[in-house]
Order: sequence, then structure tokens, then C-alpha cells
Amino acid sequence: MVSVRNPHWREEELSLKEVQKKYTDVPKSWILKADMQRRGITFSQAASALADPEIHLLNSEGANRFRQNTDQVPNGLIMRDGSYLVIGNFDYASSQAERTPYLIDVVDGKLVVTDQDEVLDEIAGYWEKPDFFNKKASNGEPLSKYIACRPQRLEITLNNYCHFWDKPGEGCKYCPMSPNFKKSGKTQECNELKYIDEAFAEALKQEGRNEIVILTGGSILSGEHPFDDEVELYIKVLKLLGEYFEGRRFPSQLISTAFDERQQERLYEETKLMQFTPDIEVLNKEKFEWICPGKAAHVGYEEWKRRLYHAVDVFGRGNVTTGVVLGVEQAVPKGFSSEEEAFQAVTEEAEDIISHGIGIAANIWRATPGSVFQHHNTPSLEYYVRTLREFDRLQQKYQVDPFTDNYRRCGAHIGLDLMRTYQEDAAWQY
Ligand code: SF4
Repeated sequence: MVSVRNPHWREEELSLKEVQKKYTDVPKSWILKADMQRRGITFSQAASALADPEIHLLNSEGANRFRQNTDQVPNGLIMRDGSYLVIGNFDYASSQAERTPYLIDVVDGKLVVTDQDEVLDEIAGYWEKPDFFNKKASNGEPLSKYIACRPQRLEITLNNYCHFWDKPGEGCKYCPMSPNFKKSGKTQECNELKYIDEAFAEALKQEGRNEIVILTGGSILSGEHPFDDEVELYIKVLKLLGEYFEGRRFPSQLISTAFDERQQERLYEETKLMQFTPDIEVLNKEKFEWICPGKAAHVGYEEWKRRLYHAVDVFGRGNVTTGVVLGVEQAVPKGFSSEEEAFQAVTEEAEDIISHGIGIAANIWRATPGSVFQHHNTPSLEYYVRTLREFDRLQQKYQVDPFTDNYRRCGAHIGLDLMRTYQEDAAWQY
């Protein structure tokens, strides 16, 4: 039985402090950040008032999309250790979350994260918006409509609808993109490339801000072979962006479906793309087939892995990663019924993938509004800490050091923050 809110969750799982006490080899601040992603966060009016639209990146759709109780929601936090926390879809209204979210508040003039009125840590600030967000495209629309950003990276979503949803029941069950697109009443799936180009040109004018550009979007199944039209679209955009750079490659990442060998080779040969990230999402064949039926029908689990391994030959070691929605393998009724069983299965599969030189970029699963799994409960904090810590151990063992999906260039994948521990980052001390 799926339950939205379990009033006894605090008694049934280890608390933040208990997990921090048990896992002393990872920073306490890291465990707190993982739990903020897991439980979600809300903002007090005082904390919300510190978000200045003139200075900060705000989520203009936050109030509707994620049911916040305040007028404006910052897009991201800068934690006290200097790392980022992507708020995006991590925020919740307390009345609808399955566990009580943390509260970002102002106490004694400081921006802090609290739980049950206890101050747990200071927050360094909100993300600042880039200069190009104040400008407009030649059609009068704000340039922010065409390229989104984090403090250090630019993000282009090409297709806002995923065609795995064309056939009822084939969309990924944790993914809200296509249901929310349909609900919005929008019909234009892809922005005109002309305006993406204008936004990119303007974004590059701000020196010292951007480390990388990522491209992503919903899958497009059409073409002579499946996904050919999608590949064609990415090639077109990458060529456009590549014009701004003289070298053979520029810091860029494509997060997409698992294209076949020929499609991968085209992307590598015809563009200056650096990193390829076909997201496998679920680290178990049986659970993958249940949770991502579209991916299973059009590619298949074993074939997805085979294409991933081939990508290392094409793009090179360190330039291939795969995204995972960690925890979704425990969704009911067909997921793993115990955290121990899930841990064993998922880490075994992760080792197989990592041993091929592929980094795992794991997101913490949240039951996102609009998704099929929107009312599900997610795993305990201990499960996340234990599993992400094991992924990190495996990445060290096989010396996988992804260029783009590390804590500097991405910042969204909490597990990859652990790379700081052995890269002697002085800020990573508490
Ligand atoms: S393939 Fe990606 S965009 Fe499409 S439903 Fe799955 S997670 Fe969502």
C-alpha cells in the first residue's frame, strides 16, 4: 500500500544525528545535504524575503510546480562547505511531503537550515543569476527561457516532452516531465535553435562564470532508426555551440538515452561534444523493466549497458557517466522489499558498470509531484549514505574520475561530492 505520509517515520528510521554518528568517515555536512535532498526543504517568509530577484536565480514556477508556501523560491543553495544544493524539484510543502521537510530560516540574522526548531547548519547563500538573464532574445522573450543555469554551468533542454510517453504506460514512473508538460497545455516541444544560439552568445560574454554546458531533453523515437531524429537535433545544436570554440572539444555533456554505436560515433566525429551520459536510471534488470518500460522496450537493459561500455571506446575513460535515480528500486509493489537486498543488488551492479570506467551520477529519488510514483515513500537516510559511500569506494577502486559529473562542474549528484575527500579539498573538513 502506497502511503503519502507516515506520521511515525521519525521513530522508524535512524535520525540524521544517528546516521552522522554511525558513518564517521564521511562529513556530517554531506550527510545533512543528502537528507535535505531526500526529505525536501521549505522556506520561511524571512528566508524567502532574502531571495532578491535582482540578484538571485529564482524558480518562477516554484509556487505552482512544487507547491511551496512562499512567493518566491531560490533555485539553489550554496552550502557552508562551498558545495551546491540544487533545489529544483527537491522542495515541498510540508503538508504534502511524506516526511517533514527541513526549513530554511533566518535565525540571529543568519540564513540557516533547521529541523524541529534546531539550527543544524548555516547556509552560505543563494545562487546568483547570470548577466544574460537580464536580457531578451530578438523575439522579445527573456533569454532565460532558452538556457537555464547553475552557478557554474549552462543547461539546454532541447525537447520538453519525452516520446516514451506516446504509448500509455511506457514513461519512466518517477519522471514528471511529460505529465507536467501535458498538464501545462504547451504544445511546442522544442525551442527554436536561433534563440538558443542568441542566449548562448550572450551567456559566454560573462567571463569566469561558466565551466560547462549540458544538453538534455526527452527522448525522440522517430527517424530511419530509433532515435535518429533526436541525434540529428543534438548534432545540429552542438555544431552551433561548437562554433564558439576553437579547439577540437569544448566542455560539454549530453545527457540522453543510450544511442547505438553509429549514433555515438556520429556525435563524436561530427561535433565537439566531450562527455556522454546515457542515464540507465535503475541498477537492476527486473526493476528497470518495471520502472522504465519505454527504455526497456526500445533499448533493453543489457543492451543499454553494452552501449554504455561502447561509449567508453568512443568518448574515452572519464568522459562517460550514467545517471541513476537511487532508491526508486524500492518502490512498491515490485521493488526490493528490504534495504539490505536493494543495497546488495544495486552495489553489485554498480561495480560491474564502474569497472568499465563509467562514473555513476546518482540522484536521490524523491516522489516528485506529477510522476506515477508521486505518492510513494522513499528509502531511509542510512540507505542513501551507505550506498553512495559504496559507489564512491568503487569509483576510487577503479580510478574513475568523471570530468563533468564531479562536484565542481555538476554539483547535483551528492555521491560525487565525496570525491572532495580524496582530492584534498581544504573546505571539506566538517
Ligand atoms: S527517458 Fe528521461 S525524460 Fe523520458 S520518461 Fe524517462 S526519465 Fe523522463
